[in-house]
Amino acid sequence: MSGSTEIDLSASAEPTGPGYVLRIVVLYPELMDVYADRGNLLAVRARCRTLGVGTDVTMLDVGDPMPDDADLVLIGGGQDREQRYVERDLHERGSTLRSWVEADAAMLAVCGGFQLFGHSYRTADGDELAGVGVFDCTTVAPPPGSVRFIGDVWGDAHQETVGDVVGFENHSGRTTLAPSAVPFARVRHGYGNNGEDGTEGAAYREAIGTYLHGPLLPKNPDLRDRLILAGLRHRYGRDVTLDLPPDPMAERAHASAVAVARKRGAKKRGRKSRRR
Ligand code: GLN
Repeated sequence: MSGSTEIDLSASAEPTGPGYVLRIVVLYPELMDVYADRGNLLAVRARCRTLGVGTDVTMLDVGDPMPDDADLVLIGGGQDREQRYVERDLHERGSTLRSWVEADAAMLAVCGGFQLFGHSYRTADGDELAGVGVFDCTTVAPPPGSVRFIGDVWGDAHQETVGDVVGFENHSGRTTLAPSAVPFARVRHGYGNNGEDGTEGAAYREAIGTYLHGPLLPKNPDLRDRLILAGLRHRYGRDVTLDLPPDPMAERAHASAVAVARKRGAKKRGRKSRRR
């Protein structure tokens, strides 16, 4: 268990509804937490409280023992320095993480975490960091001073239950998916994996990798609910269903973020056409 954290984990939230408890593992919450990616945990816990689902959260730092199992694994983004720091520890957890993903545990790996959930990440300084191979992809950052991919992203998720997704990206790494790998989304606006092939992130079984910060889940409620349901089905079986009440606040956050991304996307396209 990690040291201090502003999220009150003193008592795991007890179930008040169907008696389900979601076991959540957060990897390196102090180090891999760019753009408030920790908000993804807060969004899942808040929604679970609404659903009457308990949560049992394990925050794992470098050197902490791995729990026996997890229903949902979360890892946020990190700069090259933090990624170097966690690389070895994460690599040692690789076989467990791969066994969990093959057993359909849900996972969400964001940006720097996504890059290290692929096969490798070459930093802007040329250091080759080993990934854990959950996703069939590799990432290479161009030399310092190259264009960083920064801005709002709006795209269409590959998963039919998720629809469109929106977030904010800030990365130098360019990710290439293997020919058989499935993207998380197709980009309508923004750079995505590499600014060229229109893909964003990666998806494998119930694991999602993405460049979308924000944090992502508070304004993408369909994705949040999909991860919760997948995690509960991992633990209690494929027949689990949930009565998902509407979440008007999250829907409004989603709609306003899409409007911003569309507006900024239109401006960028306008600037490009004027430069021609
Ligand atoms: N260090 C990685 C990159 O620059 C990831 C950055 C991040 O997590 N925002 O591509």
